[in-house]
Amino acid sequence: MAFTLPALPYAFNALEPHIDARTMEIHHGKHHNAYVTNLNNALAGKPDENLSIEEICATISKHPVPVRNNGGGHYNHSLFWTIMAPNAGGAPTGALADAINAAFGNFEEFKTKFNTAATSRFGSGWAWLIKGTDGKLAITSTPNQDNPLMDVAEVKGTPLLGLDVWEHAYYLHYQNRRPDYCNAFWNVVNWNEVARRFA
Ligand code: MN
Repeated sequence: MAFTLPALPYAFNALEPHIDARTMEIHHGKHHNAYVTNLNNALAGKPDENLSIEEICATISKHPVPVRNNGGGHYNHSLFWTIMAPNAGGAPTGALADAINAAFGNFEEFKTKFNTAATSRFGSGWAWLIKGTDGKLAITSTPNQDNPLMDVAEVKGTPLLGLDVWEHAYYLHYQNRRPDYCNAFWNVVNWNEVARRFA
């Protein structure tokens, strides 16, 4: 069963001024779309073509490189669109807020540590907030299109929040200023969706 590009759950310009419409249009319509196409091509006619994307990630070391790159790209971007929203941002509440405070001290400390993970990832990759196998929250980052579901990940867990730090995610608007993009990201985080994933 072929994978499909999920519809963006808001308009291309919905996250402005923090993420511009042209970046969103190219990022979703060109970059994510290419990951889906290339993943389907890499799996076509193979016994693995009926696996879910989560199953593929969990066994990624057994798959060829194109499946790792494009399968990761499909999973990561599918998550990324949903953990952002217009009129969002602010701070988490409830059990998620409690877990963030328990793991990182407070919300500001959490954001600082997450931004450090995002800005210090050399080259292309992602920063993540994950729920570890011990149930505790942790911050990690992965290179390229790897993610914490993958059996090759240094730190494994369930992704709750992910930030794409590939240049294609910010260069049109922010050029080389990745830290400005990372700071702006907090204005569009959809904490309702992050909390749903946590629960
Ligand atoms: Mn991307």
